[in-house]
Amino acid sequence: MSSGKRVLLTGISGYIAKHVALKLLNAGHRVTGSLRDRTREDEVRSALVPHLDTPEALGRLEFATLDLTSDDGWSRALRGAEVLVHTASPFPISQPRDPEALIRPAVDGSLRALAAARAAGVCRVVLTSSSAAIMTGTPPGRPYTEDDWTDVNSRAATAYTRSKTLAERAAWDFVRDQAPSMALTTINPVFVLGPPLGRRFGSSVGVVRRMLSGRDPMVPRIGFPIVDVRDVAEMHLRAVETPATAGQRFIAADGSLWFAEMTAVLGTAFPDRRIARRVAPDLLMRTLGLFDPQIRSILPQLGKLEEVSNARAREVMGMTFIPAKQSLLETARYLVSEGLAD
Ligand code: NAP
Repeated sequence: MSSGKRVLLTGISGYIAKHVALKLLNAGHRVTGSLRDRTREDEVRSALVPHLDTPEALGRLEFATLDLTSDDGWSRALRGAEVLVHTASPFPISQPRDPEALIRPAVDGSLRALAAARAAGVCRVVLTSSSAAIMTGTPPGRPYTEDDWTDVNSRAATAYTRSKTLAERAAWDFVRDQAPSMALTTINPVFVLGPPLGRRFGSSVGVVRRMLSGRDPMVPRIGFPIVDVRDVAEMHLRAVETPATAGQRFIAADGSLWFAEMTAVLGTAFPDRRIARRVAPDLLMRTLGLFDPQIRSILPQLGKLEEVSNARAREVMGMTFIPAKQSLLETARYLVSEGLAD
């Protein structure tokens, strides 16, 4: 398809980015996917191939070597590109001791990508931000919307929420002050689930794996809004293809589920597994959090089940969302069928 755009997609090895690549390639676009380790090219190709609409689509995929912390290669990777889709950002399951280990690559990486895009004459940018840039601080007393911003000084703000908030803010400030002709759209997903492409996947799917493994005797009293990774990828595609999305943030979300609701769904679907259904007392979680960094990173969420509005994505992009429980179940079925859930 000759009408396709040339897109630089950063972090193509990522859980979300592989789905974005698939959507872009199947829609006829040409994709240069960036990796920091080029030995992973074949892993990415093999993850995509079974899902491509035509064998020719693979011919529209190339790779480039880029690191968020280095200037090397950006101008070459962006030569001839029309769109930058910037998804790469560190997303660890637990928070590092030094918050700057997350914040610096996220913020500097966004600014490096945008500055390189401006230098290459790329005027269209889609940035993968997060609900983490929206939902931390004083709750607004209504579902969160794109008008809300995380308060990075809030006690509940983790290194990750700060990294995503500061990176998105830096991007909007850069466009306003240094590249006014650049059209920026951000996609702000909530907790992303849905079947991964390939056996390497990000931190959010790891939560379902942990639930299925039966490792924990109880679940914490927390919950999140959930969105399916295929919808997140579709929103990136629609942003690339729809100029009217420029200058706006878009929350990607279906409904919210407590962890106990999630494990109830999984327990019914997989009755042979010892999946925890009992809810752990908050005090126990706070005590365990002293020793376990993964538990420590969820403590600010204890007792909260926030609601977000997906109205803008439905109205401007015409999105409909895969139900959260379906997304959860399909994630779990994938993990079990691939032997990744023990
Ligand atoms: P992921 O699978 O861990 O992907 C992260 C990607 O960023 C990987 O390609 C990783 O490369 C790359 N990356 C990290 N540090 C880098 C660096 N210094 N230089 C170059 N690339 C680097 O996580 P994901 O879930 O797909 O997340 C992708 C994006 O979505 C992130 O911006 C994340 O904040 C955002 N997001 C995720 C969720 C969610 O629930 N999953 C929700 C909201 C927003 P390597 O493979 O080499 O490590």
